[in-house]
Amino acid sequence: MRLTVRKAVQGTAVFCSLVCLNILYQVSQQGGTEVGGPEFDGSYRHGRRAQFVQEPPDALDLVKTFNAVPGRRPRSAKGGLDDSHQRANASRSLTNVKVSDHNVDQSKSKGKKHRLTNLGDVYISVKTTQKYHQSRVKILLDTWVQLAREQTYFFTDTDDAELQKRTNGHMINTNCSGQHNRQALCCKMAQEYDYFLQSKKRWFCHIDDDTYVNVPELVRLLQQYNHTDDWYLGKPSLKHPIEIVDRENQGVKLAFWFATGGAGFCISRSLALKMSPHASGGRLMTVGEKIRLPDDCTIGYIIHHVLGKRLTVIQNLHSHLEALWLLRDGLSSQITFSYSQYGDKMNVVEVAGFDPSQDPTRLYSLHCHLFPYFKQCESLYKKQA
Ligand code: UDP
Ligand code: MN
Repeated sequence: MRLTVRKAVQGTAVFCSLVCLNILYQVSQQGGTEVGGPEFDGSYRHGRRAQFVQEPPDALDLVKTFNAVPGRRPRSAKGGLDDSHQRANASRSLTNVKVSDHNVDQSKSKGKKHRLTNLGDVYISVKTTQKYHQSRVKILLDTWVQLAREQTYFFTDTDDAELQKRTNGHMINTNCSGQHNRQALCCKMAQEYDYFLQSKKRWFCHIDDDTYVNVPELVRLLQQYNHTDDWYLGKPSLKHPIEIVDRENQGVKLAFWFATGGAGFCISRSLALKMSPHASGGRLMTVGEKIRLPDDCTIGYIIHHVLGKRLTVIQNLHSHLEALWLLRDGLSSQITFSYSQYGDKMNVVEVAGFDPSQDPTRLYSLHCHLFPYFKQCESLYKKQA
């Protein structure tokens, strides 16, 4: 008996050591990196370090974080994709930055009951630019936008009579610069936000123009949350909160989570209204300038740092910062998919369908995989034959 007790005690000690080692390991894997350098133009999404001026070489831990270059195995992922839950858990033990996991129980509203959210309650803003009207926007119009014509608006930087007609007047010329820099991106996001506020819709969902939206799944997601509570739904691309130097308090660092714009994110009306003093009427641009970070980071900064609200991690959003080719099973329950090209290699969802030379982004194939009986698919298949 005494032997058994001793063994039990020894076993417990070994177990505790393993747990402690695991915690230490996780903590060592975290630790935000300072990005408060002089200029940061938002190109981190490309992994272009050259855009940093006087930054430490691993400023955003790009290689470790983005894992998305074909041929490189994602570090964290068993299934190849990020595990934001793990990230969130580890970070909780490390910092006082709070990140909540996607937890359906949490979503049970404290507030009063509302009718179920439907597609008509969602404002989907797609950020685009003149040079992508033909190559990107057309693909979206041929595919998922067919399922959300009335709800989807395109924020661009030029007039385009043809697309204006095709979208039934949903092309918005922001008159922002067409460049891919912090100011231009924040300029468009500021207007996306303002238009949403005017729309009176329940949900503001931002999408990039290289993103496929599984519209019914997006609606199903939003139905789990109450728009009169504060919700910021998205997926971070970093494994840790982003850290910046507080320019107003020397020597102080700020850390906050943000949902990567390329995966898409949604904000409830309640939270969007609270953001208003910091985001409306172009103020989002001022904040972006202050922290010198691009639009999606600026949204995270306002929500997390300024308002003290949490990001709820939605695993089923997928930007091209992930290894999309590993995303094979359960496609129909995923909410967003993206695509990109790294050199001559495509980072795309592998799905059977049209000839890859005619459908390099795989968005048509994906669309017809999800909605095989969609009229559009029939004619697309015919066109190809
Ligand atoms: N974009 C833009 N101006 C540009 C390049 C891109 O407004 O000169 C927009 C583009 O339409 C997209 C978003 O910025 O919605 C992200 O661009 P992209 O996918 O090319 O780059 P990423 O940041 O995803 O690597
Ligand atoms: Mn992109």
